[in-house]
Amino acid sequence: MQPVSKLPSVGTTIFSVMSRLAAQNEAINLSQGFPNYSSDRHLIDLVTHHMQAGHNQYAPMPGLPLLRQRIADKLQRSHGITVDPDEEINVTAGATQAIFTALSVLIHAGDEVITFEPAYDAYRPAIELFGGTPVIYQLEGPDFTIDWQKVGKLITPQTRLIIVNTPHNPTGTILTARDMEALQGIVAGSDIWVLSDEVYEHLIYDAATHESILRYPELRERGIATYSFGKTFHNTGWKIGYVVGPPAFLAEFRKVHQYNVFAVNTPMQYALADYLADADTYEGLPAFYQRKRDFFTNLMAQTSLKPVPCRGTYFQCFEYGHLSDESDMDFASRLTKEYGVAAIPVSAFNASGRDDKLIRLCFAKTEEVLEEAGKRLGRL
Ligand code: PMP
Ligand code: GLN
Repeated sequence: MQPVSKLPSVGTTIFSVMSRLAAQNEAINLSQGFPNYSSDRHLIDLVTHHMQAGHNQYAPMPGLPLLRQRIADKLQRSHGITVDPDEEINVTAGATQAIFTALSVLIHAGDEVITFEPAYDAYRPAIELFGGTPVIYQLEGPDFTIDWQKVGKLITPQTRLIIVNTPHNPTGTILTARDMEALQGIVAGSDIWVLSDEVYEHLIYDAATHESILRYPELRERGIATYSFGKTFHNTGWKIGYVVGPPAFLAEFRKVHQYNVFAVNTPMQYALADYLADADTYEGLPAFYQRKRDFFTNLMAQTSLKPVPCRGTYFQCFEYGHLSDESDMDFASRLTKEYGVAAIPVSAFNASGRDDKLIRLCFAKTEEVLEEAGKRLGRL
């Protein structure tokens, strides 16, 4: 038997492909985005503590009330936003699930969804699964900024949703207050929703402020923001995140969530609730990651790859077109096999397969690993 594919043009995600290639070649894996260092020992101890204390049965469907309260406190402290933890927050099995479920709620057959590419590769298949049509705005180097007038021209009566991502994977750009105001101007008074993927909210550099969609009143009433504790607390394998949105949206979100995930694992929710009580656990992150970015940028300056400036996330893109005519997939494979460093070919994040001869490297690694990767890439 062969199921009729709902995603005939989708293969295996580039993250699995490149991480497998890295393992096969014993290469340094700077492809898939995850740290090679551990979460805070205290957070791990808290999980153990809560398991031992017997917090091992189903959590409430929307998430542990104390964790939702702490998330609301964090939103207040970080962004000055007052959010109702009961009606506007839901704990999810990572940001990817939050996004998938949000799209299942919002997209009806025939709806158009504006996305900016290159983009995290989970958006497009989900849009298509729910019968939507992705409408692509192509971001272009060297600065990958958005011309909002051009975005405005993509809007039709079928437009149901715009997906933004700031700080942006893979380009490392961030949206500014002017971007958010322009976006607000475009959607105000319409029936268009905005999903803002903010998983890298704390990975933002050079004293820039993270512009959350939730800070803008006209965006807030139609805005859904998604977050990932995996990104924030160096434990991507825990797959815990949350979604924030207006009460009417959350009510629909929960209708799907209750029959899909129901609840996210309990001891980690208790542990995260305790851990979040101390704001130092996340307020030091921009400085921590800026040191890494600077360390990595300095190392890479010794190589012949041309950097795209990174203002946020733990990714940096590099151009190699002056070194080779190979496709970015071929170049990334050769880097892995011959130089022992795995990268993501950025064309994997373009629906069209557009190849700007860019690779993405993840610098969420210890200095020794980054140093060794820099040395290997120096031979290019
Ligand atoms: N959004 C973006 C932009 C990402 O890069 C990632 C990758 N982790 C996610 C969402 C997914 O986060 P999670 O691992 O919590 O599902
Ligand atoms: N978001 C991570 C990245 O961009 C990986 C997520 C995943 O492996 N699904 O590398």
